[in-house]
Amino acid sequence: MMFASVIVSITASDVNKVFEYKIPEGLSDLIKVGHRVLVPFGPRQIQGYVVDIKDEVEYDAARIKPIIRALDIRPVLTPELIQLAGHLADHYIASYISVIETILPAALKSKSKKMLSLHSPGGEAELAWQGMNLPHEVEVKTLSASQLAALKPYITSGEVIEETVLTQHTKKKYARALKPTFAPRGDFGRAYKQLELLDFIEQHDEYVLLSEVLEHGYTSGTVNELVKKGYVRRTDVVVERDPYKSRVFEEDPPKELNSEQEYAYNEIIRAVEEDTAETFLLHGVTGSGKTEIYLQTIAHVLDKGRTALMLVPEIALTPQMVNRFKARFGDEVAVLHSGLSHGEKYDEWLKVRNGGAKVVVGARSSVFAPVENLGIIIIDEEHETTYKQQDRPMYHAAEVAKYRSRYYNCSVILGSATPSLESYARSERGVYTRIELNHRAVTRTLPETKIVDMSVEHRSGNISIVSDTLREAIEERIRLGEQTVLLLNRRGYANFQICQDCGHVPNCPNCDISLTYHKAQYSLLCHYCGYEDGVKRECDNCSSDEVTFRGTGTEKVEEILRDMFNTGIVRMDNDTTRRKGMHEKLLDKFEQEKVPILLGTQMIAKGLDYPNVTLVGVLNADTMLNIPDFRANEKTYQLLTQVAGRAGRHELSGEVIFQTYNPGHYAIDLAQGNDYRTFYEKEMAFRRLARYSPYYFHVLFTVSHETVQKCLEATTHIHQALVKSVTDKAIIVGPSPSPIERINNQYRFQILLKYKNEPNLLEVLHEINLHYNELYKKEKLSLKIDVDPKYIM
Ligand code: ADP
Ligand code: ZN
Ligand code: ZN
Repeated sequence: MMFASVIVSITASDVNKVFEYKIPEGLSDLIKVGHRVLVPFGPRQIQGYVVDIKDEVEYDAARIKPIIRALDIRPVLTPELIQLAGHLADHYIASYISVIETILPAALKSKSKKMLSLHSPGGEAELAWQGMNLPHEVEVKTLSASQLAALKPYITSGEVIEETVLTQHTKKKYARALKPTFAPRGDFGRAYKQLELLDFIEQHDEYVLLSEVLEHGYTSGTVNELVKKGYVRRTDVVVERDPYKSRVFEEDPPKELNSEQEYAYNEIIRAVEEDTAETFLLHGVTGSGKTEIYLQTIAHVLDKGRTALMLVPEIALTPQMVNRFKARFGDEVAVLHSGLSHGEKYDEWLKVRNGGAKVVVGARSSVFAPVENLGIIIIDEEHETTYKQQDRPMYHAAEVAKYRSRYYNCSVILGSATPSLESYARSERGVYTRIELNHRAVTRTLPETKIVDMSVEHRSGNISIVSDTLREAIEERIRLGEQTVLLLNRRGYANFQICQDCGHVPNCPNCDISLTYHKAQYSLLCHYCGYEDGVKRECDNCSSDEVTFRGTGTEKVEEILRDMFNTGIVRMDNDTTRRKGMHEKLLDKFEQEKVPILLGTQMIAKGLDYPNVTLVGVLNADTMLNIPDFRANEKTYQLLTQVAGRAGRHELSGEVIFQTYNPGHYAIDLAQGNDYRTFYEKEMAFRRLARYSPYYFHVLFTVSHETVQKCLEATTHIHQALVKSVTDKAIIVGPSPSPIERINNQYRFQILLKYKNEPNLLEVLHEINLHYNELYKKEKLSLKIDVDPKYIM
């Protein structure tokens, strides 16, 4: 007799256990490690994942229930991914099942339906069944309460059976198509368009997609005529959901590497040849040709018959990156894109699982792609916080990458112009191998950067958000037909409304944060919970009608720029890119129509590589400095350097202007001088003094509840539990209210644990997690334990 260890699909943390089931004789060939199975669980039937198979169990085998059936022909999880799931559940204090369901595409998660069917015909049950006019099988949800009550006795007696049916969201996708009938042609008279279209359709012996016909400029009117005359039939065809399918990628041959690139490439290839799990930090200035090194490294790995994983912070923001990979590797690339539907993602996943794609490009969760025989894992812009998931399991892609690299003995490349302090510190200690690229690939030099002190500007009479220096620089670019990128890290119109008599600012009633004015909707919006309120005509506090707007967002700056320059502007922020595909549309427009100005929030700072952009302006370099987080300086330095890196990447040289009220601040000053090394040293000195990462590791506990009282109780308990179990070298900060004290009517309190070496910490964290989850589940209190947090907010 064989037994299977199964992780069942229930997310409650108290069932974070492995359950044993019998493998029925007939299924022993069909059920392997990694399979999804249907198992009985209490009165229900649920989905589970087989993580182990063995021939004995510790307890009474007679009491173990059998697996009902297997749900896959091929296992969905490999032994490697199962092992990885165990590691992540342990390391990030998460449930095993939540990790497994993070690893797999959402389409494979079960959605279950309860069905009833008639088991033994001929009796009273059948009479009742037919009396209700029910079909052969019926979903419980569709029955009325009285119908259900009438059927209940038969369910108990077993004459009617209740079954849980799992449905997956993997429906096939159909598209409209046209089929030629090849009917003999009659006289078309002067309907030349119809003839032309018929010729076009008849070139396809099977069918042609309607969308393709329309793309070629034919109208649906012409199509209708041909259908009416019987030359063409309409039909639906199943299409593969490859969103890049219809696009043609120009082939892009490898470039000859310059000497810096060559050195980097050789270092990495050495590790590839030695099959070592080495982690490289590729520290290369913006435009130094890191991507070209990735591409050539991957080509080498593919030649050896191995596979590659390429992570980018966010696919939608980097369409150019995807294009470069498609152009180099064609169909061997699978793109796992967060903008894809469940079905589309599943198709790409399946292509990878079946070995049909050897290179996977995608954002954070692609690090779980079911590739086997990995030869290299690359994380581009490794400092980006999007690599850390903010929901449970709160994993970091680099942690996953390093784990997988050890499994496959392959290397990891972390690439960035502005590495996270943690990664750079590791390269200083020799944990990572650092490789530097100090020059740009094409121009060899970085753009010249100026700082404009906005308080001086105001004192000299210019109170506009655009300084004279920046205005002149933009005017010059417009004259030359070159393009400008402007960063303003704040969306909306005005920042907030304020009463000039009493200073009252309207806040969100659910969150402790002021409401942002959006002119297009003429409303005040909460950026945290979506709360919307009308614009105030008078102050809620003192009824004065002297209410006005303060602060400036992208929406308003767009207006100001239009007035000032009377020219085309593309605006990119969360408001203009909400719809699917808008990022790419706006960027295409900017590039192809050579629109003079691209204005946007930080989403424009990454990845863009346009030869005609020669000026970058940062309207307010200080916004990031004020975030209540110890990484504020680091984030400021990174953002400024990244956005500055968009200027002058090709033949034309670039210029950068930072507008600031803090011209002496080292994050801004050193970003201007592009002096990462000095920034690193200064910032490390601050981190050492303040006892923060990378000198200490962190764990952040955030408790939220609708009352302050419960938050305080829970955080006080956690505090006590920590004091009892950690060494006296660890530092416990708090309990204290979180920087945003209330979101969505939930108060938030936090404790920050800082430590260097705590051998028993994981055990303690798991205990706390379990204890508080059970104790407070009934009270709707939530505890989040964030290991290596990226935000202390
Ligand atoms: P990074 O990823 O470091 O920001 P990219 O890889 O995007 O830099 O390179 C910047 C530009 O330089 C790109 O347009 C790229 O095509 C070009 N480039 C990179 N390496 C070379 C090379 N060896 N020869 C010519 N052009 C190159
Ligand atoms: Zn007032
Ligand atoms: Zn709110």
